[in-house]
Amino acid sequence: MVKYYSANDYYKDKFGEKVYKLALKGGTTCPTRDGTKGCRGCIFCSEAGSGDFAADTIDGAILRLSAKQTGRKYIAYFQTFTGTYGDAERFRELYTAAARDDRICGLSIATRPDCLPDEMFELLSDLAQIKPLMVELGLQTIHEKTADFIRRGYNLPVFEEAVAKLREIPADVVVHLILGLPGETKEDMLASVRYLNGCDIQGVKLQLLHVLAGTDLGELYLSGAFGTPDGSFPFSLPEYTDLVCDCLQTLRKDIAVHRITGDAPKRLLLSPKWSGNKKLVLNTIQSTIQSRE
Ligand code: SF4
Repeated sequence: MVKYYSANDYYKDKFGEKVYKLALKGGTTCPTRDGTKGCRGCIFCSEAGSGDFAADTIDGAILRLSAKQTGRKYIAYFQTFTGTYGDAERFRELYTAAARDDRICGLSIATRPDCLPDEMFELLSDLAQIKPLMVELGLQTIHEKTADFIRRGYNLPVFEEAVAKLREIPADVVVHLILGLPGETKEDMLASVRYLNGCDIQGVKLQLLHVLAGTDLGELYLSGAFGTPDGSFPFSLPEYTDLVCDCLQTLRKDIAVHRITGDAPKRLLLSPKWSGNKKLVLNTIQSTIQSRE
């Protein structure tokens, strides 16, 4: 069996019980969208800025959870766009109100490493005094060629500096990697995982590449740039399952795994089509995890 540190175990260790994440709208744009570093966003990103399922308010997000999932503790997860890019006062108001809410046991803010000026570090430090803070950084890959292709807009030293400063706050750092970016081999993806093993990070999200309609990646895909657009790019389900297990085996055992696949809005999903059946994907990965030596 492949052993790894699950997000559930990490939250239980941190908060003493099971907690639920409330996906909330936080940021409103990104430097790769507003003209600062580009206008069309990262090549794979939907118009909702990676927050297709995020709610406007804590009450709304709790309502969306099924009755089975309602617990006593919630993490306010500000998921959309770049959660530290824009009006610092607006962020201070939004995040402080969430941190002071009795139902909220911790905050998680998704952002980019190149969007952490001093005033944002000050805000994050203040928040960490109120509730435990997790900051999610979208790294996606360590390979500069791929980073250029996806229009990530910053290089690795920027990421490394951000991690070091966030750890001083202290915030736990959760890093997003995308599996299946065009041009990357399995070895390239495992090299990204090995690189993270050398970083002072506490969590990782392994995100299957979703090709979505309305994105530049979607247009390239439909034009045949990555082989036949038959709904199987970048992997078949068995290939992806195998890769995820290799990543989990490679990953340092104290790094919590917060995601092993991902959600895509079905109406936008061009490929891989099988990923629309999330239950099947998770069950297949779990049974491979159990059966691996
Ligand atoms: S992936 Fe993140 S940084 Fe890139 S455009 Fe989407 S929300 Fe912005």
